[in-house]
Amino acid sequence: MLSVVPRPVVVRAPSKVNLHLAVGDLRDDGYHDLTTVFQALSLADTVTVSAADGLSVSVVGDDAAAVPTDRTNLVWKAAELLSAEAGVETDVEILIDKGIPVAGGMAGGSADAAATLVALNAYWKLDLSRRELDGFAAKLGSDVPFSLHGGTALGTGRGEQLVPVLTRNTFHWVLALAKGGLSTPVVFRELDKLRAEGTPNRLGDADDLIHALTTGDPRQLAPLLGNDLQAAALSLNPALRRTLRAGVDAGALAGIVSGSGPTCAFLCSDAQSAVDVSAELAGAGVCRTVRVASGPVPGARILDKAAKG
Ligand code: ATP
Repeated sequence: MLSVVPRPVVVRAPSKVNLHLAVGDLRDDGYHDLTTVFQALSLADTVTVSAADGLSVSVVGDDAAAVPTDRTNLVWKAAELLSAEAGVETDVEILIDKGIPVAGGMAGGSADAAATLVALNAYWKLDLSRRELDGFAAKLGSDVPFSLHGGTALGTGRGEQLVPVLTRNTFHWVLALAKGGLSTPVVFRELDKLRAEGTPNRLGDADDLIHALTTGDPRQLAPLLGNDLQAAALSLNPALRRTLRAGVDAGALAGIVSGSGPTCAFLCSDAQSAVDVSAELAGAGVCRTVRVASGPVPGARILDKAAKG
């Protein structure tokens, strides 16, 4: 009997920057309550699933060597979760092409997990709804639901309870990628320590920022960007202060540490300004490399249209 091998499915998933990241106190379950406004950016990973004997993961692209290829990779967990649900064998190779910095505070692993859910849903013809995929995403990690949805969204709980936020226009960003990463749990612990010592201040609510997003004016948005984790990231990696200063000196409207860092994200007035800022920042010797990006962009999406049907 002839068995039909499904065609490979290719999915692109965006990175994210937190425009507003307010961190509450440590909860009994070890997590912190978050109020955050995410924006999905065009800097992205692609994930390709194709036929294989058994499950395997391989990684190419930016900083690929820093990404595990065993069952600790989030894509592996995503595949096992879906295969158990669907009752299918995990006979797939998952190839990750990294464009998102690893351990960079831009939800790279979450993007790959979201991409894998979308890819395998199509590859195995599971026909799971968005709501069902959301359920799997939340099991895999706090940022995975946002990586599925993309756009701009207000996240509460651990960041996984999402409400879309209305925005006008495209915003233009420059990203300064650092040498090495920062571990998200370590950054949260550093914030707890700083707070126990009496510093730093806490962000207020996101109302003004959400209003600024509806105007589409980056000049209104810039002074409202804020991240409670920034003080902790700077405490662990003081060189980031220079990076943040250099971006603003180069003409950015504002700079923030992205999520738990160490990537720094600079909001620029328009696309041309982002190109100019990136060129100047690249020459300033304050980061490993520089990328230009824009947002909001959609969440994890199939690229190979033919595989959809
Ligand atoms: P977040 O912003 O969601 O806290 P991050 O962007 O700072 O996360 P990731 O790039 O997701 O960090 O990686 C954090 C760690 O997770 C890495 O150091 C790596 O060991 C592990 N990891 C597991 N799966 C992946 C993956 N698919 N891509 C990158 N890292 C992964």
